[in-house]
Amino acid sequence: MTMVATSRLGEARHFGAHAPEIEERLALLAEASRVLADASLEPPAVMERLCGLVVPLLGTACALRLLSEDGLWLRTVASASSAPESRARFQALISQRMRADEGLAAEVLDTGEAQGVEAVLVLPLRARGHAMGTLTVWRDAPEPGDSEPFDPGEHLLLQELADRAAMALDVARAYAAERQARQAAEVAAGRLARLQHVTAELSEALTATRVAEVVLEQGLAVADATGGGLWLVDPDTARVTLLRCAGCTPDAEERLRRVPLTEEAPAARCLRELRPVWLERGDALEGMRKPALSSACLPLVVDGRALGALVFAFSMPHGFDEDERAFLQLVAHHAAQALSRARLLEGEQRARAALREAHQTLEAIIQASPAAIMLLDPDGTVRLWNPAAERMLGWTAEEVMGKVLPAVPPEHWDAFRHSLERATRGTVLDGAPLAGRRRDGSAVQMAVWTGRVHPANGPPQCLSMMVDITERQRGEAAQRFLAEAGGVLAGSLEEEETLERVAHLAVPAYAETCGVFLEDESGAVRCVATAGASEASEVPPPGLLVVTRVIQSGRPETRSGLSDADPTSACAGGTFAYLCVPLQVRGHTLGALTFVTSKRAYDAQDLSLAQELARRAALALDNASLYRDARQAIRLREEFLSIASHELKTPISALVLQVQSLMAGLARSGAQFDPERLRRGLERVDRQVKRQTLLVNDLLDVSRLSAGKLELVLVPLELGALVREVAERFEPEFARSGTPLELSLAPEVRGQWDRLRLDQVLTNLMSNALKYGRGNPVRVELEVTEGRARLRVKDGGIGIAREHLPRLFHRFERAVSERNYGGFGLGLWIARQIVEAMGGFIEVDSVLGEGSTFRVDLPRG
Ligand code: ADP
Repeated sequence: MTMVATSRLGEARHFGAHAPEIEERLALLAEASRVLADASLEPPAVMERLCGLVVPLLGTACALRLLSEDGLWLRTVASASSAPESRARFQALISQRMRADEGLAAEVLDTGEAQGVEAVLVLPLRARGHAMGTLTVWRDAPEPGDSEPFDPGEHLLLQELADRAAMALDVARAYAAERQARQAAEVAAGRLARLQHVTAELSEALTATRVAEVVLEQGLAVADATGGGLWLVDPDTARVTLLRCAGCTPDAEERLRRVPLTEEAPAARCLRELRPVWLERGDALEGMRKPALSSACLPLVVDGRALGALVFAFSMPHGFDEDERAFLQLVAHHAAQALSRARLLEGEQRARAALREAHQTLEAIIQASPAAIMLLDPDGTVRLWNPAAERMLGWTAEEVMGKVLPAVPPEHWDAFRHSLERATRGTVLDGAPLAGRRRDGSAVQMAVWTGRVHPANGPPQCLSMMVDITERQRGEAAQRFLAEAGGVLAGSLEEEETLERVAHLAVPAYAETCGVFLEDESGAVRCVATAGASEASEVPPPGLLVVTRVIQSGRPETRSGLSDADPTSACAGGTFAYLCVPLQVRGHTLGALTFVTSKRAYDAQDLSLAQELARRAALALDNASLYRDARQAIRLREEFLSIASHELKTPISALVLQVQSLMAGLARSGAQFDPERLRRGLERVDRQVKRQTLLVNDLLDVSRLSAGKLELVLVPLELGALVREVAERFEPEFARSGTPLELSLAPEVRGQWDRLRLDQVLTNLMSNALKYGRGNPVRVELEVTEGRARLRVKDGGIGIAREHLPRLFHRFERAVSERNYGGFGLGLWIARQIVEAMGGFIEVDSVLGEGSTFRVDLPRG
């Protein structure tokens, strides 16, 4: 309130006392209108101007009072006083608030009429039919006898001034209200703009932390708060956890970090009650750097569920009008929405991460699986192909993905698709066998397990796990084959049949052609049986050269690979793989077995199978040959027994007859018995006894030689002399049979030999030449070289068939029938034992029907 001082006090005193001057009053009213018409003026200024017009022209002081909003009080808003000495008193008078419903003011306001009591005139301020306040004008009390202090003209003038002032005040108030409204709208618009900014930031916040950051950095500024905090509800622990706070001390931050929901803290309370807690004079945080004098705790609610609490703290006591409450709740609403979104997003990200992890684990399992894993559509289209599938079948994932499974050969395709369809309908294959082919065309045996898979979109698929069982099956097949082979080989002890069986065993499972080769005693290698060869007479590949090498070295030879150019070409002239393995038994190589194929390559497993077969075959062959030998031995023994009994019995019978006839002659004739006849009879007896002695000696030699008890007595010897001596001994017999005997002896064939034993050899050869010589000339030749002596006994007799030659020097072996020729079949065997004991050898050349030549070759010792 401003006091208006004026220097026109004197004039004022007389203005009302004299007759009103119309011009002056009009001028005053015009001035009043001009002053009050200034709409831009603030109401207090209007009031001051009015008071300035009243004092001093119409009174010594004046006060303008306005009604309070409740209409109970009048408040002085402007005053003026012209006399400085009365200013203090007047000041006291007008400074008080006064009741509007009491005293003069009440009457004035009630009636709307000015009331003058002594020198005070109180006028109502009215506008649009409403009382707004009063205008009080003081004048010095009139002298006794004076007329009324305010004449009716002045009264009218003052009322007119009051009315105009009231109107101006009304206008000014309306103006001020309008301006205030505009300002409020501007504040609201500003807040809205800032809220929009916060909302935009919140809409981009992807995490709860970021939401807290935006709310507490920007929301705080928007709300004009000095600090705050955002808590999240932990649904599991019924606690709230501080996510972020602003303006708090570190201690407070630590204290506020975890708040149980049951606690009486305002933030906890707003969460429990799910409504804001407004503390117009209170600090919800209790630990701000700058103590808060008011605070707002807002629950962050989405779908009726509290996600957290937001607290704003203000440095000043705070009324929180409707606008502000709505605004802060809007901020909280947006924050809650953003938090909910962020939670959803975080949940989704966690779910995605878990899914990704699960996917990665699954992927790692599929990648590392030793079994082939593939996912197939019902029509066989490949959707998944792991490295084991690539290793097993040869195709890379790029080559097969989206294409029909190429590993199933056309002939099995229908059956495969049928089982695929059944698998996608839910039938489970549990290790079912499947014949497939690899990328390189080779066959593969697989065991298949299936399961149905339901993808999110599309028809069911078949998950197939496959394991390569080719080797296992091959192993099993090989075991079966060998077991079968054992049975087949054991089925016969006939050598020839066994050979045929051996050859046929491996065809066609392991070879297109199989050959059995044996080495004979002379070291020659012959193909003795074949299977699968186009012509049986043909020597099958790889040929005699390779086979001979294998027999000599005792080590197998293989050519495992086929030419890539033409794997299907026939063996002859084409490419082929072969295996050649020795037939070994008891440390001795009998021959070799060959496997040949043009269909595939041979590998280590084939080789070991062939070796195993060869071992069993060799054993079977050995058994067959032992059996043959045993049978032969039995046959020979039986033959020998019958010959021996005949050979021994016949001379004895002849001897007995001879002796009986001599004895009968002697008994008849007595001393007249013809001595010549006796001599001839005794000669025959002597021959028979000698022959018997030779036979018995041979038998004795057999047992001696068989027991390894042949002892040589080596002495210096001239072989020619010995030959002549034996020839002389044979002369009568040669003569008797009319066989000419020729000797062609090198001189001085000397050496260290056993005389008696060589005599035995010569006797044997010459008696054979005589026996089998058919009377043709027999020729004995003796040659000598530096170190050796060579004896030949040639005859032109019956000769020996080719097939008998190899075994002629064996025990009991004979090339003639016992009916035609007597003998034990021991002579040549004994001769060979003797010659070999002296380091030499004996052999024979013979042509059946033409004669034989026996050769004895001796080192000279
Ligand atoms: P043996 O003459 O007592 O039968 P050997 O061992 O002396 O027994 O002869 C064995 C077989 O060899 C004879 O049985 C005979 O078949 C044959 N052989 C031996 N020497 C001759 C020969 N010079 N000419 C033809 N065959 C012979």
